[in-house]
Amino acid sequence: MPDLHIDGRWVGSRDGARREVLCPADGSRVATVDEAAGHDAAEAALAARRAFDRGAWPGTPAKERGDLLLRVAALLERDKAAVARAESLDTGKRLVESEYDVDDVIGVFRYYGGIAGTGAGRVVDTGNPDVVSRVVHEPVGVCALITPWNYPLLQTSWKVAPALAAGNTFVLKPSELTPSTAILLIKLLEEAGLPAGVANLVLGAGPRAGAPLTEHPAVDLVSFTGGLATGRAIMASAAGTVKKVALELGGKNPNIVFADADVEAALDMALTAVFLHSGQVCSAGARLLVEEPLHEAFVAELAARADRIRLGGPFDERAETGPLISAEHLAKVEAYVQAGLDEGAELRCGGRRPDEPDLAKGHYYRPTILDRCHTGMRAVQDESFGPVLTVETFTGEDEAVRLANDTVYGLAGAVWTSDAGRAQRVAGRLRHGTIWINDFHPYVPQAEWGGYKQSGVGRELGLAGLAEYQETKHVWQNVRPAPQRWFGG
Ligand code: NAD
Repeated sequence: MPDLHIDGRWVGSRDGARREVLCPADGSRVATVDEAAGHDAAEAALAARRAFDRGAWPGTPAKERGDLLLRVAALLERDKAAVARAESLDTGKRLVESEYDVDDVIGVFRYYGGIAGTGAGRVVDTGNPDVVSRVVHEPVGVCALITPWNYPLLQTSWKVAPALAAGNTFVLKPSELTPSTAILLIKLLEEAGLPAGVANLVLGAGPRAGAPLTEHPAVDLVSFTGGLATGRAIMASAAGTVKKVALELGGKNPNIVFADADVEAALDMALTAVFLHSGQVCSAGARLLVEEPLHEAFVAELAARADRIRLGGPFDERAETGPLISAEHLAKVEAYVQAGLDEGAELRCGGRRPDEPDLAKGHYYRPTILDRCHTGMRAVQDESFGPVLTVETFTGEDEAVRLANDTVYGLAGAVWTSDAGRAQRVAGRLRHGTIWINDFHPYVPQAEWGGYKQSGVGRELGLAGLAEYQETKHVWQNVRPAPQRWFGG
C-alpha cells in the first residue's frame, strides 16, 4: 500500500522515489516508504485547501469535532501495542518509553477533544445599547505540520489534535527518519470518520517535501518542531506569503542545584534530566549548574551513576536508555564532545561509544559528563541533543540566574532548593518557557509548552496551543441603523 495520503487516497510519490527507514538500534530495515517531492507536497496543500474552502469540516460543530478526537483517543488505546512497537522500531527507544509516549498522545487527543466545544468566543460590552459586538474564533485554514524524530507521534499529536479541534485542514510532514506512526495516525483519523482531504500526509526529506509546504500560497500556517537552523529557514521561507508561524525549537536547559537541595532527589533527577532517551529531548537538562560547595561530591556521584547506565535496544528489558537516531547524529555528538574537550572541559565519564559487541551495529554513545565548563564555551551554548552534560558552578542566587539566562535558548529550566522563597524568586527570574522546582521533565496537556528567545515562537498545549490554530474575528452589528451625517451628503 502506498504511503502518502492526499485528498483521502493513499498514493505513491509522483516520481516513484522511495526511502528505507532503518532501526537506529541495529541498522535493520524497518520499512521502505514513498518519498514525496515538491509536486506531491503541492498536491497535498491544494487538497487541504479544497477541503477547507469547500468541505464540511471547518463548519462542523466544534463539539462534533471534539467527539471525533475522543474516538481517535479510543482507537489509539485499542492499537497501543502496535503503535508503541512502530515508534520503538523507528526511533530505537525502549518499548516502555514508547508506551508512555502513546499514553501521552492519548491524553493530548482527550484534552483537545474535551475542550473543542467550550470556547465559542465572547460578547463585548461596547457601551452602545444599539450594538451587538461579538469576538469569535475561527480556524486559520490550511496548516503545514512539520515534526521531528525524537518524539514522533507525541510532537505530531501536539499539532494535529488542536488543529482539528479548531476546524483546520492540514498537511503533515513527519521526520523522514521516523514516518511509521504518522502513517498509523492518519489511518486512525480515517477510521474515526474524518472527511477526505482534511488530513494529508507527505513523507520525505525536509528540503524536498517540507520546504515546498512552507512556501506554498495555499498554506496559511506552518507549525514546526525541530532544530534552530531549520526554524530560521522556515521562518524566512514563510515570510514570502506572510504565513502564521509557530516554532518549537531547541533548548540548552539549565538544571540549577543549590547546596541546600535534597541531594539524593537532585542527583537522581539530574541523571533523568539529561540522559533520558540518550539526551534526544528538547527540554533535556544538559547544563548542570551546581552551587560551589556541593560541586565535587555531586559530580563525582553523578559520574559514577552515569557510568553504570545500561544501553540497549528497544526490546532489551535490561536497557535503561537506547541509541542515537542515526550515524550522522552520533558523529555530531562525538564532534561536540571533542570540541568541548578542546575548549578545556574535563571529561568525568563517557566520551566514547560502548564496548559491548552486541551494540556495535547501533548508534550508541556512553553517557558523558564534561566538567569545569563556563558560558564562554560552545559546549555550553550549543545543543548537542545527545547524552552529554556540561557542568558549571556558581555562588548564590544572582550568579545562578545570570548564568542560567546566558543562552540564546529559553525552553525549560529547573531549580533545586529546600528554600521555598528562593525557588519562587529564581523561577520568576529565569527567561525560559517551563520551570520545574524540585523536579524535571513532567508536563501535562493542559499547561502551555514553548520557548522564550530562540527556543521558539508561540505555544503548544493548553488553551494557547488551541489559539495558535485559530483566527480571531470581531463581528459588530448595529441593531438600529440610522444615517450618521458625517458627510453632508
Ligand atoms: P530538524 O530541524 O532537522 O527537522 C525537523 C523537521 O523539519 C523534519 O521533519 C525535517 O524533515 C524537516 N525539515 C528539515 N529541513 C526543512 C526545511 N528546509 N523546510 C521544511 N522542513 C524541513 O530537527 P530534528 O533533527 O528532526 O529534531 C531535533 C531538533 O528538534 C532539536 O533541535 C530539538 O531541540 C528540537 N525539538 C524541539 C522540541 C520543542 O518542543 N521545542 C521538541 C522536540 C524536538
